[in-house]
Amino acid sequence: MSIEVRTHTALHVLKGAVQRVLGAKWTAGVYVEGSHGRLTVQVERKPTDGEMALVEEEANRKIMEDAPVEELEMDRAEAEERFGDAIYDLFPVPFSVKRLKILYIKDWNVNACKEKHTRSTGEVGCIRLVKVRYRPSKGLLEISFDVYPP
Ligand SMILES: [Zn+2]
Repeated sequence: MSIEVRTHTALHVLKGAVQRVLGAKWTAGVYVEGSHGRLTVQVERKPTDGEMALVEEEANRKIMEDAPVEELEMDRAEAEERFGDAIYDLFPVPFSVKRLKILYIKDWNVNACKEKHTRSTGEVGCIRLVKVRYRPSKGLLEISFDVYPP
């Protein structure tokens, strides 16, 4: 399994942690290169160092659980009825798209996503946050991280 698949899946694991700890709902951007990734989310204020440490801890706790990472495929209307707008990011899926692939980590993260994923969170390895930047004018939090082998 390629390192990019692990790093990409780490974005979903991290998003679940960010949702829980910071109440962040909307993803504004993602970036993956090798074992390095960056998740950008919308939040109302700059998180404390303690909160970011908790985000890292929660993400790695989910990895330790080795929870199943499921890829569902369903009609868009059905997905919206079941999951609401939680499946979407800030950048909308075009109206012409009627069938969606859904990334599903139970009680953690659900997101319309066409990328490839690991089969469980344990395969991601370990997530280390390397840099956190908050842009108050846009309310955007950029979280840069690395993944390490399990
Ligand atoms: Zn994905």
